[in-house]
Amino acid sequence: MGRRKKTSKPPPKRKAVEKLDTLFDCPFCNHAKSCEVQFNKKANTGTVSCYKCLEAFQTTINHLSEAIDVYNDWIDACEDAKK
Ligand SMILES: [Zn+2]
Repeated sequence: MGRRKKTSKPPPKRKAVEKLDTLFDCPFCNHAKSCEVQFNKKANTGTVSCYKCLEAFQTTINHLSEAIDVYNDWIDACEDAKK
């Protein structure tokens, strides 16, 4: 009776998707994870602000919006401002 060989593969390494992470790097002071996104569902606005340099940005959200969307809007707005 041979022992059954376990062919247990290591679980595939997944890239950690930090879905609930609402902290992002600041495009102004470049401080890591210093920008927090907050939602105001009643007003349909999302605000992202940096606790280091106190830069802040507000954008319109909808029920599908996530923190990363607010952050991306901010980045876009920064890019636009540079033009
Ligand atoms: Zn900052």
